Amino acid sequence: MFSRVLIANRGEIALRVIRACREMGIEPIAVYSEADRGAPYLDLAEEAVCIGPGAPAESYLNIARIIAAAEVTNADAIHPGYGFLAENAHFAEVCRDCKIEFIGPSPEAMALLGDKVSCKQMARKAKVPIFPGSDGEIEEEAEAIEVAAKIGYPVIVKAAAGGGGRGMRIAHNEASLRAGLKSAKQEAVAAFGNGAVFIEKFLEKARHVEVQTIGDRHGSAIHLYERDCSVQRRHQKLIEEAPGPHIDPKKRDEVCKSAARLIKNAEYSGAATVEFLMDEKQNFYMLEVNTRVQVEHPVTELITGVDIVREMINVSAGEPLSYRQRDIKPRGHAIECRINAEDPEFNFAPSAGTVKTWQPPGGLGVRMDTHVVTGYRVPPNYDSMIAKLLVHGDDRDHAIARMKRALAEFKVGPIKTTIGLHSELMNDAGFAKGGVDIHYLERLLKK
Ligand code: ADP
Repeated sequence: MFSRVLIANRGEIALRVIRACREMGIEPIAVYSEADRGAPYLDLAEEAVCIGPGAPAESYLNIARIIAAAEVTNADAIHPGYGFLAENAHFAEVCRDCKIEFIGPSPEAMALLGDKVSCKQMARKAKVPIFPGSDGEIEEEAEAIEVAAKIGYPVIVKAAAGGGGRGMRIAHNEASLRAGLKSAKQEAVAAFGNGAVFIEKFLEKARHVEVQTIGDRHGSAIHLYERDCSVQRRHQKLIEEAPGPHIDPKKRDEVCKSAARLIKNAEYSGAATVEFLMDEKQNFYMLEVNTRVQVEHPVTELITGVDIVREMINVSAGEPLSYRQRDIKPRGHAIECRINAEDPEFNFAPSAGTVKTWQPPGGLGVRMDTHVVTGYRVPPNYDSMIAKLLVHGDDRDHAIARMKRALAEFKVGPIKTTIGLHSELMNDAGFAKGGVDIHYLERLLKK
């Protein structure tokens, strides 16, 4: 097992990995930018190393500085968390060259599943349901028009290297397809340095259902069931829950097994999330694979009891998975609310500054993942998520009641947060019914 793990990240996920390391008897090493200097969670690490200015390119995205920090602190592995370098295959390769274990998949498996075109090809081979569309990259306009005619409009043009909702265009007819193809390509070149695009059928009304999986280096791969993350705004998830409400047990079984099969066939080791869209008849279509730990992984931890970060560290150290598929028995219902430092009254404008009041909830079935304490200054440089509030209950109604209670206890000021919006959602009749689609929240906010 590793003796020292460097965490190439910040905030709540850095703290999450620090905690897993401590429980495993591993010394966690933190890195921080000047904007994060003095953050209280850094004191919980064995050592903390400044890696540069607040701008991500100068610190958390700077491979040379992170590797240097790992070398001076004698770290034998790096956990990338999520975001920043977590899905950068080049970074995983540099770690390997420097003989530092990257806690995640091999660079090859990451590249294979991280590229949407090669991922879909792999999925087709593994008999994982995918959207009808082009077989691979679309190079000629005529080819796109032919495929669209075959699968029927609307279609969506997507970048092979896409992420964060960029490089996507919806087309309802030939003219908008021609235009969309051009602009998606341009956007993909600018954002990812790779202009490869493909097209697939566009689903008008869908739910976002994703499956947590984990594989080891001995050829085992299991799934930890699904999460529903349909409550989104601008493709950003706001609430996640598990199990997915009203999913037919047979469909659940199929989709979860197909996700595990995909990562097994890809000889993938580490945690991965296979994302799907689900239509009104509960047909599933794979969207993409995230080759890292997800923000919402604790929802799955609450229903399965599996410590996902611990398992990630274990399998990267060459250990076999601690669980077989039949050991995974989900219990109850879990919900996560993302608490962002944003003002929902002002179009979700970021609300950075010093937190003067911080009274987090507690009690039975409540989990808070946060790096914030009273007096913490939220830096303006990074993502606005400052906490994840989770609850676990016997069933969905119980979990909602518990979340309402926990949100009511939660007092934060003077910065603005999404706490009030979450309270409204927990009291919303549509959400209470369960199974809302991915545009539900945006429709609600317009009212
Ligand atoms: P990214 O990597 O940029 O997040 P995804 O492939 O995960 O891209 O898609 C992001 C979002 O775009 C989805 O959550 C969904 O809302 C929408 N989307 C993508 N593909 C489709 C599709 N075929 N039909 C309907 N919506 C889609």
